[in-house]
Amino acid sequence: MAVASDIVSRMVAIVGADHVRVDDATRVAYGVDALKQGHPADVVVTPVTTAEVSAIAHLCHETRTPLVPRGAGTGYTGGAVPSHGGVVISLERMNRILEIDEGSLLAIVEPHVITGDLQDAVEAVGLFYPPDPASLRQSVIGGNVAECAGGPRAFKYGVTKQYVLGLEAVLPTGEIIETGGKVVKNVVGYDLTHLLVGSEGTLAIITKVILRLIPKPPVQITMRASFPTVRHAVNAVTGLIRARVIPAALELIDGDSLDAVASHLQVRSLAPAGTAAILLLEVDGLSAQVREEADRIESACLEAGATEFRRATDNAERQELWRVRREISPSLKVITPLKFNHDVVVPKARIPELFELVDVLRERYRLRIPCFGHVGDGNIHVNIMVTPGDDDEIRRAHEAEGDLFRGVVAMDGSISGEHGIGFAKKKYMTLELSQDEIDLMKRVKAAFDPRGVLNPGKIF
Ligand SMILES: Cc1cc2nc3c(=O)[nH]c(=O)nc-3n(C[C@H](O)[C@H](O)[C@H](O)COP(=O)(O)OP(=O)(O)OC[C@H]3O[C@@H](n4cnc5c(N)ncnc54)[C@H](O)[C@@H]3O)c2cc1C
Repeated sequence: MAVASDIVSRMVAIVGADHVRVDDATRVAYGVDALKQGHPADVVVTPVTTAEVSAIAHLCHETRTPLVPRGAGTGYTGGAVPSHGGVVISLERMNRILEIDEGSLLAIVEPHVITGDLQDAVEAVGLFYPPDPASLRQSVIGGNVAECAGGPRAFKYGVTKQYVLGLEAVLPTGEIIETGGKVVKNVVGYDLTHLLVGSEGTLAIITKVILRLIPKPPVQITMRASFPTVRHAVNAVTGLIRARVIPAALELIDGDSLDAVASHLQVRSLAPAGTAAILLLEVDGLSAQVREEADRIESACLEAGATEFRRATDNAERQELWRVRREISPSLKVITPLKFNHDVVVPKARIPELFELVDVLRERYRLRIPCFGHVGDGNIHVNIMVTPGDDDEIRRAHEAEGDLFRGVVAMDGSISGEHGIGFAKKKYMTLELSQDEIDLMKRVKAAFDPRGVLNPGKIF
């Protein structure tokens, strides 16, 4: 164990012996996230108060010990995993919803509240917290804030940052800060709240979050349209944007992903012959408005060449339509446990070019690359499937990844719309950012973390 025993003893004095773990099983478990790479933790510590988080941070700063904040560990870029050992600080015991303020439309939560649980709690009183990463039943608000998580509803409602009003956070030096607050407008000084949102656990440890809520839309209509090519599906998206409809969800699933789900669930009808893409759409709001929007969507899809259009008539059918989307990740895992799961984003009008690029990569590198995602945002999950141990295929996948990233940047897009950089993508930062921009970011990092102890080896 690389962390000295006297440091471990001082941690025990802060949080108690039950909350400092050094056994192998724990160290390995906290040494991976959904990327499935990284380094075991040397020590895992689970504080329960902000004061304890502060004392741990101060100790790591003083002793120059690497400290890695961790939520639920569902991140795809190795963000919650040590790059070379050190202490993992898991916020798992800080899991309370502290307040739901129906008058001011906000919630105050500790970082380890599961996103889906918060949604259920606010919906029970007629309110709504829209950000909905597909991991919402596992991932937690602290991790969502640190990654600025998105999800299917971002097209209409925006991503996590649009809902964060304020934060309590512990700096790597141990100081406790409060940013923003309970108000929706606040222009006093620099916007530290939104500097911390998306900072991937490299600037501060988030210990409390004030979230904006909105009234829950009373009615939802879910629809599915099938298309003979991806281009037809994308044309339908353009058509419905022209018809001035903003769906609450607008997901595209390509034929390869559909095939994977159909094989996994053994329901061939989910991927009928002649269907190369489906759109999954949802509108929400007041009853008359959503019926009108659903009609406009149906027209746009049929005009774009949809071969089938279904509108869910009850909640069971709605869940059935969503099932295909939810089953994609588990179905792809059955094909191979290893995939390079990218979350590139391009301006909406350039989505057809993105799919053309993926077709070129499939052929050039002889790889299976199922794609699906938030087409309304131009944010597509490009999954480069690789066989563990097949070195030649892994090499081709890395080359395809580089071409993909260079291609999206050339399309005025970004190499990551949701998952962040972590250590998985840091070598590609210079594709998108100038050296001056990277140097400025490093100076910001140094201002928060002068000794570089918080989540070292990430982003840069
Ligand atoms: C099946 C599946 C589906 C997914 N779907 C989506 C999706 O639709 N949209 C999307 O955006 N992402 C998605 N993700 C990725 C992932 O769920 C998100 O990035 C999520 O926000 C990570 O939350 P977490 O609690 O698991 O954080 P972790 O993985 O534990 O940590 C993520 C990062 O946040 C930092 N961090 C965690 N907690 C704190 C804290 N309290 N203070 C400071 N830093 C902290 C960590 O250091 C790390 O850098 C998906 C992942 C999976 C496995």
